[in-house]
Amino acid sequence: MANNEFETIVNNSKEISLKWRALPAPQRGEFIRKFGEELRQQKESLAHIITKEARKIGTESLGEVQEAIDMCDFAVGLSRQLYGLTMPSERPNHRLQELWHPLGIVGCITAFNFPMAVFAWNFCLAAVCGNSIIWKPSPHSNECARGIKEAWDKVSGDFSDLILILEGGNEEAVSICEDNRIALVSATGSTQMGKELAPIVSARLGKLLLELGGNNAAIVCPSADLDLTIKGIAFSACGTSGQRCTSLRRLFIHQDIYDDCVERLKKCFDDLIIGCPTKEDSQIGPLISESSYNSMQQTLDSLKNKNVKVLGGERLHIEDPKEYYVKPALVLVENIEDEMLSETFAPILYVKKYKDLKDAISMQNNVSQGLSSSIFTNEMRESELFLSESGSDCGIANVNIGTSGAEIGGAFGGEKDTGGGRESGSDAWKNYMRRMTATINYGDELPLAQGVEFDES
Ligand code: NAD
Repeated sequence: MANNEFETIVNNSKEISLKWRALPAPQRGEFIRKFGEELRQQKESLAHIITKEARKIGTESLGEVQEAIDMCDFAVGLSRQLYGLTMPSERPNHRLQELWHPLGIVGCITAFNFPMAVFAWNFCLAAVCGNSIIWKPSPHSNECARGIKEAWDKVSGDFSDLILILEGGNEEAVSICEDNRIALVSATGSTQMGKELAPIVSARLGKLLLELGGNNAAIVCPSADLDLTIKGIAFSACGTSGQRCTSLRRLFIHQDIYDDCVERLKKCFDDLIIGCPTKEDSQIGPLISESSYNSMQQTLDSLKNKNVKVLGGERLHIEDPKEYYVKPALVLVENIEDEMLSETFAPILYVKKYKDLKDAISMQNNVSQGLSSSIFTNEMRESELFLSESGSDCGIANVNIGTSGAEIGGAFGGEKDTGGGRESGSDAWKNYMRRMTATINYGDELPLAQGVEFDES
């Protein structure tokens, strides 16, 4: 990347942010509403680009564009709800009030696996809050980024530069992190990426929003509805070829139902339709790259070398010989293996028996990541324990639903090595604004807080 190209992008982004923030928030919302309409119009063609680049099956690609549309609708509503609190002042004739203002430029670094939705989480909130955005997409998904930008350009009038794309790799991401004109860096990707980029932003005391790797687990209790449970596990573990940050990687099954559950899972994994993502009946497409395939095989080889039972996981030669289709792997473990503690971004599901729910919760939490978690149970005491302060330590905790497939209405993100960021719904918009506390004295005296006396005479 030429230095002057980056300079131009940052300068243009700064300039447009000053104009954009002067628009009343509901007018900004109107632009986002039109953007959502444009995405609706282009839903099929945008989904097609996702399938082409990220190799997602059709229904998931359409779902991803729908997520971007949902974010637009959410942001339009927010444009009239960027509320600040008013607090009672301890001083007579005073008012204490919070005001929320835009940050300026938001830098957005995204991963390959949600090439449009994660940008939409960031852009819709950043824009409605009055910011411009510079987007560095994954090198695997530049065409997705261009498709989104084209849709924005159709509705944005003089505000085309509100979205500026910086294509490239690590170097471009580092430039965003180093530049103190970029107020907030929102980065989605591996934990390793977060650990490399966070110190750069922190060194200039910039704001950070990190959405990093997961290592998600589910617990199956004896009372679980097993039909529902197996379906939830299959989608979470195998959907998107195990390439979701929320993909299910570890499964703890109660000893009383373990054999039955494992038999059902084996059958379910055998029946999955793995094939070209453009085919209507395909449920699982290929891995994104050869290196993803290699890291999956390295993990499985290392387990096999320890005589751990691995079912599936082999490469399937379907259609294009350059693509890496794999059968999802079921790994039946007796002990916690080291491989279970890190995220291999591929369809590998570790299955372990448990006896006591508290032990299962503790095994679930005993990893460095903290993104998503599930419990399958029909016992209220078990689900409430799981959701309590002694339960799951993740940012997402589901009951009778798999670990993946979140809706936009809730705040999305995870704890520990997942980075602590929250994006998308609820009050995640606050991450894209600066909070100003204003105290207004409408009296004719100047009482000081905490009863402090300062008599100038
Ligand atoms: P990745 O970390 O390889 O890349 C993500 C982005 O960061 C890309 O734009 C890439 O160019 C950039 N990047 C990567 N390493 C960098 C470095 N050292 N310096 C500067 N920039 C760097 O991730 P990926 O393979 O594209 O996506 C998969 C990962 O993303 C998984 O770990 C997954 O769990 C995570 N993810 C997390 C979330 C979430 O919301 N928590 C969502 C999607 C993906």
